[in-house]
Amino acid sequence: MKKRYLLAPGPTPVPERALLSMAQPIIHHRTPQFSEVFREAAELLKYVFQTKEDVLILASSGTGAMEGSIVNLFSPGDEVIAVNGGKFGERWGKIGEAYGLKVHWVKVEWGKAVNPAVIKEILDKNPAIKGVLSQASETSTTVQHPVKELAEITRTRECLLIVDGITAVGVTDIPMDAWGIDVLISGSQKAFMLPPGLAFVALSERAWKYADKAKCPRFYFDFKKERKNLAKQTTAYTPAVSLITGLKEVLLMIKEEGLENVFARHERLARAARASMEALGLKLLAPQSPSFAATGVYLPDGLDGKKFVKYIRDELGVTLAGGQDHLEGRIIRIAHLGYIDTFDMITAVASIEMALNKFGRKVALGSGVGAAEECLLGGYK
Ligand SMILES: *Cc1c(COP(=O)(O)O)cnc(C)c1O
Repeated sequence: MKKRYLLAPGPTPVPERALLSMAQPIIHHRTPQFSEVFREAAELLKYVFQTKEDVLILASSGTGAMEGSIVNLFSPGDEVIAVNGGKFGERWGKIGEAYGLKVHWVKVEWGKAVNPAVIKEILDKNPAIKGVLSQASETSTTVQHPVKELAEITRTRECLLIVDGITAVGVTDIPMDAWGIDVLISGSQKAFMLPPGLAFVALSERAWKYADKAKCPRFYFDFKKERKNLAKQTTAYTPAVSLITGLKEVLLMIKEEGLENVFARHERLARAARASMEALGLKLLAPQSPSFAATGVYLPDGLDGKKFVKYIRDELGVTLAGGQDHLEGRIIRIAHLGYIDTFDMITAVASIEMALNKFGRKVALGSGVGAAEECLLGGYK
């Protein structure tokens, strides 16, 4: 027998309560019974997004909401900035180019956060730019971008701030309305503790005005059509009924824990991850602006990261994430978002500690775990 632990930055573990609710017999989506579940989920989503605006629920992975945001807000030839500090930032720019937008790429070194002054300068020089596309948490590099500062720059201009908050919403405080974020996106398989298959997106009042003028081709991801249906407690096309049933359940869990406590838990886990990795002598990938969703560290020189991650997964039963592109085989990422608590972290750290020894990189057993425990004990004061 081997017990499995899922500690990757999506999909994340699903709590029993949500699993049980999703195991119920399927109900028809055009019924008062489903509408009630849908209404409640849509209302609770506003709480988690910290917005008074509608939060659309789409049947797609997170990228669907990213693509939807481009096609519903812009027209071919429109100019946007894409903050490209990792795989997901790159995706923003690629989607824009796929629809004929003129993309100003802002390359950010992997492991670093974007400098808001750079964005301000580009906007000052190019007043035609209509949107800034960024991540809140760039999962591939475990970096947190300064969304609040970006919003301070965009909110006073004719320029939307469009934020992929897929590993930030429900992880860290990112109050959409209070900061003046125009579009905020998330997905089911990250902090929302559900299987993959749902994307969420909320638009500010001024973003909805852009939606009136945008001319990019679109059909399935038609935000105005979805908004009309949302007002009637339904969706334009067949919704992912089971996932939405689970969504209501996880949102209730978040509400019961309280957003503040959810953020504090993620911060505590992130701190524990960083302290333990440093105690093991591993160098953090994003020491200056670390994400609260996942922690990345460089592996010791000469260690084959792909084999290392595979060993931890197949032999120890713990699924962590490796690196992508030029970081492939060089880093390891521990996720700590969603349905994750103290002993999941201990498990993750212990698995790395054991594997390092297995791969001939002697570290004192318990040194990483001890450092994590020090941090986590704070949660039990
Ligand atoms: C997971 C993730 C996505 C979405 O990816 P999908 O595979 O389409 O769900 C986008 N951005 C970030 C930052 C992510 O972590």
